[in-house]
Amino acid sequence: MHSEELRKIDNEHVWHPFTQMKTHRDENVPMIESGEGFFLKDNEGRAYLDGVSSLWCNVHGHRVPEIDQAIREQLDKIAHTTLLGLASVPSIELASELVKRTPEKLTKVFYSDSGSTAVEIALKMAFQYHAQKQTPDDQPRDLFACMQHAYHGDTIGSVSVGGISIFHEIFGSLLFESIQVPCPTAFHCPEGYSESSYLEYCDQELERLVTANHQRLAAFIIEPLVQGAAGMLMHPPGYLRRVRELTARYGIPLIADEVAVGLGRTGTMFACEQEDVAPDFLCLAKGITGGYLPLAVTMATDEIFNAFEGAPEDYKTFFHGHTYTGNSLACAAALATLKLFDTQQTLENVKENTEILSHRLAELQDHPHVGEIRQKGVMVGIELVSDRETKAAFPMGRRVGHQVTLAARKNGVIVRPLGDVVVLMPAPGMPAELIHQLCDVVFSAIDEVISLQV
Ligand code: PLP
Repeated sequence: MHSEELRKIDNEHVWHPFTQMKTHRDENVPMIESGEGFFLKDNEGRAYLDGVSSLWCNVHGHRVPEIDQAIREQLDKIAHTTLLGLASVPSIELASELVKRTPEKLTKVFYSDSGSTAVEIALKMAFQYHAQKQTPDDQPRDLFACMQHAYHGDTIGSVSVGGISIFHEIFGSLLFESIQVPCPTAFHCPEGYSESSYLEYCDQELERLVTANHQRLAAFIIEPLVQGAAGMLMHPPGYLRRVRELTARYGIPLIADEVAVGLGRTGTMFACEQEDVAPDFLCLAKGITGGYLPLAVTMATDEIFNAFEGAPEDYKTFFHGHTYTGNSLACAAALATLKLFDTQQTLENVKENTEILSHRLAELQDHPHVGEIRQKGVMVGIELVSDRETKAAFPMGRRVGHQVTLAARKNGVIVRPLGDVVVLMPAPGMPAELIHQLCDVVFSAIDEVISLQV
């Protein structure tokens, strides 16, 4: 099909996610046809550096020979069967690899197919775990603790523990109850607080809310270290450990949602490692297949799992599963992705790129319209503001972050903002020279757009 025809069909029939379609129709977004390494190519042959790992999921690049080969080999055997009443070789092999690589005590692997469902499963498991352990005199554990501004996906369960009002508010009446713990990031602290007094307030609130509600709390869910979709908000060092200490004190399971931060992006394979934290549940998705195929896992401890054991007539079974749970092609892609972390020394590459990024980001340090630069590993948020002193935002209607995306795209780089936070999320395996290219183009795009705003 020619471009015009493809565009027409896209505009008439494809309903894009998280997208105002009225605006989309005017934007002539690139229609991607192929990819190679860390570049995407549109149907007219234009190449773009993939500056946000597609949707934060690509790890070793596109068309990676080892991953392609693993999928082909699996395809020659079988694409999919089921884990309901059967087992499958790739899902067994992948579970074994995951148990070896994740924090100790996480010994059980439950498969699903997106980050949202991995979270949904952890929430349901935590709820059922308590229900099956409790005595009739215990208070029901039907409340979840989550972080203010959290994003854990868009199923009803994961929205119930979400805190981004523009995504979540409309569904308010459909959601179950959760309490939100203030997000300990100083840049957006309310008036009247200094940065340090706000962090102190957040810490006191964390303790107060957990203590006051501990008898009802089924679990505490957190994105370790970085709240990605909130705009790359970073927690202060020690925060995750503090959450673990408090939840352990009251026997509240901790769900670590590493859908975005896992698989090397923060500098370690899993973000929890940086604070020596062992969660009760670990959710992984996005990068687990290298960004190739939909697969997610919810990992749990023996202690959680044991509460589900019993005779069929005890009805302790976890009644949850999807048609494509543990898909064989996706498991094969995931196995190859994990192996590449060893053979390509991907974490070493992340370490080098982390250094490069922080040197390059220092160039923006005194920029009059850069309010804050946030970086953890190869996850970066550059918050643009109209006034650096007051931290005042640009008027929303100007869509400054989006304008930066368009300017970068003109020069061959794909990035996607979160409001006026310009996000850089290079794949963990991206070579150093492309990190420089990404910074060159995005920094110029920021200057180009800002010069039109002031
Ligand atoms: N959890 C976190 C921390 C995420 O960042 C996301 C997606 O961005 C999700 C869950 C949902 O993942 P998915 O889009 O695969 O459902």
